[in-house]
Amino acid sequence: SLPLSVPVTLPNGTTYEQPTGLFINNEFVLPKQKKTFEVVSPSTEEEITHVYEAREEDIDVAVDAASKAFASEWSTSDPLVRARALIKLADLVEANAETLAYIESLDNGKSLQCSRGDVALTAAYFRSCAGWSDKITGSLPETGSSHFNYTRREPIGVCGQVIPWNFPLLMAAWKIGPVLATGCTTILKTAESTPLSALYLATLIKESGVPAGVVNIVSGFGKIAGEAIATHQKIKKVAFTGSTATGRHIMRAAANSNLKKVTLELGGKSPNIVFNDADVKRTVQNLVLGILYNTGEVCCAGSRIYIQEGIYDEVLAEFKAAAENVKIGNPFDEDVFMGAQASYAQLSKILKYIEIGKNEGATLVTGGARHGEKGFFVKPTIFADVKEDMQIVKEEIFGPVVTISKFSTVDEVIDLANDSEYGLAAGVHTENINTAIEVSNRLQAGTVWVNTYNDFHPMVPFGGYGQSGIGREMGAEALDNYLQVKAVRVGL
Ligand code: NAD
Repeated sequence: SLPLSVPVTLPNGTTYEQPTGLFINNEFVLPKQKKTFEVVSPSTEEEITHVYEAREEDIDVAVDAASKAFASEWSTSDPLVRARALIKLADLVEANAETLAYIESLDNGKSLQCSRGDVALTAAYFRSCAGWSDKITGSLPETGSSHFNYTRREPIGVCGQVIPWNFPLLMAAWKIGPVLATGCTTILKTAESTPLSALYLATLIKESGVPAGVVNIVSGFGKIAGEAIATHQKIKKVAFTGSTATGRHIMRAAANSNLKKVTLELGGKSPNIVFNDADVKRTVQNLVLGILYNTGEVCCAGSRIYIQEGIYDEVLAEFKAAAENVKIGNPFDEDVFMGAQASYAQLSKILKYIEIGKNEGATLVTGGARHGEKGFFVKPTIFADVKEDMQIVKEEIFGPVVTISKFSTVDEVIDLANDSEYGLAAGVHTENINTAIEVSNRLQAGTVWVNTYNDFHPMVPFGGYGQSGIGREMGAEALDNYLQVKAVRVGL
């Protein structure tokens, strides 16, 4: 049978030990049924390894571990104990940065450039969370001399967290960071196509001094392990990142089980707006970053570009040239920007949408096909002359496929931009401060990037309006998802 760790040789020639088991109580253990599933490298279509699959009964074991850990001193001890572990974890992520980046590129297909960025953000986020640990405070409401009142912000308890495959390591960090800062405990399930980096992170979590049972990480499928988390009676809160359809399902499951608290970070179809007075060079870089970063597998990808008529031809020509210039291919080549799509399923979905775009009558400016014969690569694809009711304008494609429309006035583009069931992010490109602020205020989006795009910082909250989600990750807001307020009113 499969050992609990296997040697994996990375494309840089180094070999590391990849854990394969379920990380429960700070140990890698076998699931009850000892089932495994295959993990494939999207850039070569070759098998990397198998990992063990968690099922309902294993989630029960993990929940027991997390419940015991929550009842221990973890949730009530000096918060600087938690801060120390988070700082150590950030240091360990940095010390293992190259290994983590290579694992991520191997497992997800993204370029090493992208993976290195993810690892840096992961370390930064854990470090930022360390700083929040001892800044969780209540308040002293004044109600007159007959009473003394105070509030406490207490950790919610055992959490369940389900993450996607587009940023496997970074999404684990966005979930685990606030759990550690607030004194909660968790069972985190990775996406079935990308379980490797989070299992490696588990070894670092143990090494950082986080007590057993606080963070449990399992590999498994959505319909089995994911469902078990969403419906579990002893899990007090579920945090999910992924598709809007699955988010809706999880919210329903949470409501039908024990009304666990829910935070969701879901899909998007984000507008990226270019005004006549934009700095063309800088804007084109941001349009490329908006749709080709991480091969377009980004929930906040700038997938609907709107260009004002006076600058339309120039920006379109420059953007086409820049997109065609992007280096695509072997994720481990240092100068490659775009690696492979994360799975065959995702490749097929993107190619299907490209066919839909052609059939809907949009003008294919560039791309429109698979790149190479082996590996799940797609050429950067630009559609122009789109109509707003086309499927390629309305639906999330989650790949390097972008639509371009022309507009003339601010009012017109605001209406177009806001005409979406989603509201995750938006981009505004202008040199005019008044336009930037007016348009940012009127856009229905959780994040507005002005003269930048796909630009994150641990202190800046991220999350969606509309059907793009509930709650915010990062920033002070992330803590709110894991804390509940207790009011104590003392009669004097
Ligand atoms: P998904 O939302 O189904 O999967 C994301 C995670 O949810 C995975 O860990 C999966 O195992 C889990 N999951 C699936 N069904 C579940 C259930 N019933 N209960 C609990 N957990 C469950 O996404 P997908 O099918 O892998 O991808 C489909 C599309 O979703 C993509 O093409 C893309 O448009 C979108 N997506 C968005 C994001 C994002 O960051 N917002 C991430 C991944 C995918």
